[in-house]
Amino acid sequence: MKTNLLNYDAQGMTELFAQMGEKSFRARQVLRWVHHYGAQRFDQMTDLAKSLRIKLENEYDLPLPEIALDHTSIDGTRKWLIDVGQGNAIETVYIPESNRGTLCVSSQAGCAVNCRFCSTGHQGFNRNLTTAEIINQLWWANHALGGNQQDKKLITNVVMMGMGEPLLNYSQLLPALKIMLDDNAYGLSRRRVTVSTSGVVPMMDRLKDDCPVALAVSLHAPNDALRDELVPLNKKYPLRELMAACQRYLTKAPRDFITFEYVMLNGVNDSIKQAQELVKLVQDVPCKFNLIPFNPFPASGLTVSSRKQVHAFGEVLLEAGIVTTIRKTRGDDIDAACGQLAGQVKDRTSRDARMQEQPLVFTPYAKPEAADKKTSVVSFEQMQQQLAQLAKP
Ligand code: SAH
Ligand code: SF4
Repeated sequence: MKTNLLNYDAQGMTELFAQMGEKSFRARQVLRWVHHYGAQRFDQMTDLAKSLRIKLENEYDLPLPEIALDHTSIDGTRKWLIDVGQGNAIETVYIPESNRGTLCVSSQAGCAVNCRFCSTGHQGFNRNLTTAEIINQLWWANHALGGNQQDKKLITNVVMMGMGEPLLNYSQLLPALKIMLDDNAYGLSRRRVTVSTSGVVPMMDRLKDDCPVALAVSLHAPNDALRDELVPLNKKYPLRELMAACQRYLTKAPRDFITFEYVMLNGVNDSIKQAQELVKLVQDVPCKFNLIPFNPFPASGLTVSSRKQVHAFGEVLLEAGIVTTIRKTRGDDIDAACGQLAGQVKDRTSRDARMQEQPLVFTPYAKPEAADKKTSVVSFEQMQQQLAQLAKP
């Protein structure tokens, strides 16, 4: 069986090439061909000796992902469902905005953390994705969006906010992050690659030392009693430890704040008192908040907070000087299921602006610039139906 070259970052590729008696710059050339230029075959790598190309062809491969669904929503968001075998599928979502393009990447098929409000969690854990499967999502999106042919970078940001808990798949995540940052590959800035975690404290420390990228922490509750219920991992790594880990992370983070994600659950975690408790909890952690209206699914038994309540909750944080955004949600957006980031930051440090403007802003997605003719525009309901069909055994 051939070895999948997509599993290797610069260091791994260099070691691999050294074993073949090849110089390290050859490894960098191959990395560049694959990830920067999007080569699919070794015979495209014209600056490699023919003998090396043949050797690579015989022993290695660059498999493409199996795309089960490819849909573009009315607002330009594009979503791929990728078949990773044995009945498992993962999602990758591209969100174009006027000033950036964000790719939401999955790290596991399913998830073991089993948060109360998360449909991935309800599925249970299937398996870890390999480095190749993680980076292939970026390779594919770049390819499908025509990123290699254009000067303009279409994918400027990556968020590890798709399926799975990235820090519970650390060994496969790390080389994938390094490939994202590598100038010979995707050349993304550390500030524009975000790992989102439910709070795997020891792995937050590892990430800080190995590859500090932007960090988002899924908080969802202002105290241990409630967080134990919503995010069961809290029993292992309670809030005091989590807050301390956030502070340690900030000593090396590329940004000077942690983003806290907070899913808004009607009557569960959305009261004014809880917002005040939250302000106290995070008082020693420089942070921003991202309030995510809950995306309901029947088995959860939970409902989303009213828009009014989300605003009132956000207002408490804003009054305390915490920059707060509301993640946009709309039923007909295909990405709503993934809880994608689309809020516009409103910096409340300017008091005058605060007096004049609405407290929080919902920002619509950018309109589709040029919808790919090969993809179809579907409603959220159609998408759900197709996903349900696919999920059937
Ligand atoms: N496992 C990681 C990253 C993936 S989840 C984590 O939990 O951080 C990405 C974000 O989507 C998390 O903040 C998660 O809490 C949120 N999320 C999960 N299910 C949701 C739902 N049904 N509605 C809204 N947001 C949800
Ligand atoms: Fe896993 Fe994140 Fe979903 Fe929790 S919210 S079950 S950690 S994917």
